Amino acid sequence: MADIDTYLKLSFSDIKKQPKEKQIEILEKLVRYHNNKYFIENNPIISDVEFDRLTEELRRLKPNSPVLYELVGEIGSVKHPTPMLSIDKRYSYEDIKKWVEGLDTDKFIVEPKYDGMAARYQNGILATRGNGIYGEDISGRLPYLNVIGELPKNPNISVRGEIIIPNSYFQKHLAGEYKNPRNAVVGIIKAKQIKPAGIKALRDGGVHFVIYDEAKSLKVKKKDILDEEKWEQILESVLSVDYPLDGVVIKIADKKLREKLGATEHHERWQIAYKLPAEKKITTVVDIKNQVGRTGRITGVAVIEPVELSGATVTNVTLHNYDFIEKSKIDIGCKVEVCRAGEVIPFITKVFAKPENKPRIYKIPTHCPICGTPVVKNGKYLECPNKKCPARKSQEFEYFFKSLGVENLGLKTVEKFINEFHIQKITDFYDLKPEQISKLEGFGKKSAHKIVQNIQNTLNGTVTKSQLLQALGIKEIGPATSKLLVKKIQFDRLPYATEEEIIETVEGMGPKKAQYLLKEIKAKWEIVEDLKKRELKFKKEETTDKLAGAKFAITGKKGKYSRDELAKIIEQNGGEYKTTVTKGLDYLIAGPDAGSKLQKAKELGVKIISEDEFLEMMK
Ligand SMILES: [Zn+2]
Repeated sequence: MADIDTYLKLSFSDIKKQPKEKQIEILEKLVRYHNNKYFIENNPIISDVEFDRLTEELRRLKPNSPVLYELVGEIGSVKHPTPMLSIDKRYSYEDIKKWVEGLDTDKFIVEPKYDGMAARYQNGILATRGNGIYGEDISGRLPYLNVIGELPKNPNISVRGEIIIPNSYFQKHLAGEYKNPRNAVVGIIKAKQIKPAGIKALRDGGVHFVIYDEAKSLKVKKKDILDEEKWEQILESVLSVDYPLDGVVIKIADKKLREKLGATEHHERWQIAYKLPAEKKITTVVDIKNQVGRTGRITGVAVIEPVELSGATVTNVTLHNYDFIEKSKIDIGCKVEVCRAGEVIPFITKVFAKPENKPRIYKIPTHCPICGTPVVKNGKYLECPNKKCPARKSQEFEYFFKSLGVENLGLKTVEKFINEFHIQKITDFYDLKPEQISKLEGFGKKSAHKIVQNIQNTLNGTVTKSQLLQALGIKEIGPATSKLLVKKIQFDRLPYATEEEIIETVEGMGPKKAQYLLKEIKAKWEIVEDLKKRELKFKKEETTDKLAGAKFAITGKKGKYSRDELAKIIEQNGGEYKTTVTKGLDYLIAGPDAGSKLQKAKELGVKIISEDEFLEMMK
């Protein structure tokens, strides 16, 4: 194509100077070109942000342009080595008990029964279940799936799993585009034309491949299943995962016994599914509340006349977003149909109009219900723009511990702790005792201990100064800026640094930003002081220039280090970590079982090294 080269040279404002028809023509050609670079050639030449800008502009000018919906990758047909059977179902606890009692084994695995798309992986091939005998070869999508669990290295071993989109991702990015998460998976994996939001979901790592047996599974004993109270707890814990579900699967843990038991024509004898009945009921909205979430997002919650749905009393239903509230005309006094299926979260499926045309009682909020700041609209959502809004506290705390490398302290846990232990400030977490935590629902002695240990460990030389500075959560201080500041300015002097020092140290920093940054450091410094009182010991900064300027990507199975750890080493030594293989790459670190990235690197002539060879470069 002669003109694509010309078009590639145009800046965004050059394009905007053209007449509308010409703009569309240019944008269509560019989007198609870059899509191909990203998905087919695995060699993007522009950033995601630039790409998004082009597609957004094209969508604005021509919302139904076919280019916005184009196919990525090819799909073929594949025969399963052994048929993928369906799972035998049970609908009551009594039936589950009977099944468990009849088996001569003590160890079981209970895991969510995912409501996504079942698939099988072996030796680089990913295939859908299809009709059980033949599936579709969707290996082309594998590099874009977020694999939860480990793919087997051994080419003779096949594993099964589910392609599925987390509820939270769906709600946030796909709810307006697809009817439900399941439809979204089908639309993204199999459709000939993928919606732009679907393509973005692949890029975002929003589409997961969850491997059965390994991920999100609970190992339980026979006696736990036979004790109804324990069974309820197991159910609750398994069902609380952030995926769409329609029940749980109970499996025998012993793989030898599985083989021995074998299968009938239709299903395997070593596992059953407990299906949760989907239920719908009609009730009345008695109030609508506005809640502020961790990111400042304000969500409407309908308080309803309590209804029993699949065994639980439902009193509150989250309303998807303010667009939904506006369009559905939901109001206090409305009748609504509420559904609770396998998903633990109930939702409204229908809003019935109020009998008379009375004026609407519920008013969409104009101010944050927590801090009173005027709200701003962000897409379909309303947000409180106040960064200090108390509702955001939990997010800040989570970020802090995540930055310090504390595992097991996700947002849900942080929120729970804030509420249960009346936590005011971040350092209150350091006073938590395992005995306190293990009293909470969902925490065992072991996990409680681990959390406290992980928190305390941050004091014992596992955290660098720059890590702590970054963890304070100051907008302008990301990992790179943090390292620079710590390198150039003595850590303890940071709150007393001058504007000039900051401007000198951080490239592109103007007086205004520097002022803000210093103000924020001062405001947050009491955290550092408090940790020092707790005898905080720092880890030495490990920054060298050994890899200066070199670009690395990583593929294959974990060796000595995980992918995240390797990426960290690369960055700490002045190298650049890339997630995709492109021409500009210097090295691909390939572990065992490397797939398409390795292939790509070979084609592009990128130097391929092992983890050991990489570590050798550090010496
Ligand atoms: Zn607020």
